[in-house]
Amino acid sequence: MRRGERRVTPDVDVIVERLRERFPDARYELDWETPVQLAVATILAAQCTDERVNAVTKALFVRYPDAAAFAAADREELEEALKPTGFYKQKAKTVQEVCAALCERHGGEVPASMTALCALPGIARKSANVILNTAFGMASGIIVDTHVQRVAPRMGLSEESKPEAIERDLMAIVPESAWTFFGPAMVLHGRYTCTARAPQCAGCVMADLCPKVGVK
Ligand code: SF4
Repeated sequence: MRRGERRVTPDVDVIVERLRERFPDARYELDWETPVQLAVATILAAQCTDERVNAVTKALFVRYPDAAAFAAADREELEEALKPTGFYKQKAKTVQEVCAALCERHGGEVPASMTALCALPGIARKSANVILNTAFGMASGIIVDTHVQRVAPRMGLSEESKPEAIERDLMAIVPESAWTFFGPAMVLHGRYTCTARAPQCAGCVMADLCPKVGVK
């Protein structure tokens, strides 16, 4: 189906049901033990695979165990440690600025609040949702990363292209009780089936109800 053609929005309850069957344990695939670690891993995950981030954070979280340690780290040493994740200079700067702000404003802890999180340097709604959904189990919204940004319009769930507008559309049709599952499950669906270059429509569990918008 081409973009702009009239279409019927697929039944979201059925989509959620099928995602639950396909990814019963859907979770964000970053390793973490504390909300501060999840916040740092989320920053490092930009333009990098979760596997690579997890390989780096294993030693990183031993060396810098909390927000105070990250804030006080030697910048060059931190940059060196973050090198394998790419864009390491910017990431080291953001990690230190976020951790310094956590120490100054929140006693070194991650606040369980969308407003407080989005007020941190370099943290936007997507990262805030990852932290709130994952670390606190809060239905703050729906994670819209690069995968969900691509998959939701293909599935006819949004005609928007910007993450925050797509999230608004999804929040209007997905039951709130499913928000914390739906985001990570759609991320996995996009990562493993509805991939960017070659979506595997033939073997997809959504094939019979998906309008495949923009898919050739
Ligand atoms: S049917 Fe194709 S376009 Fe639709 S969700 Fe599945 S892989 Fe993506």
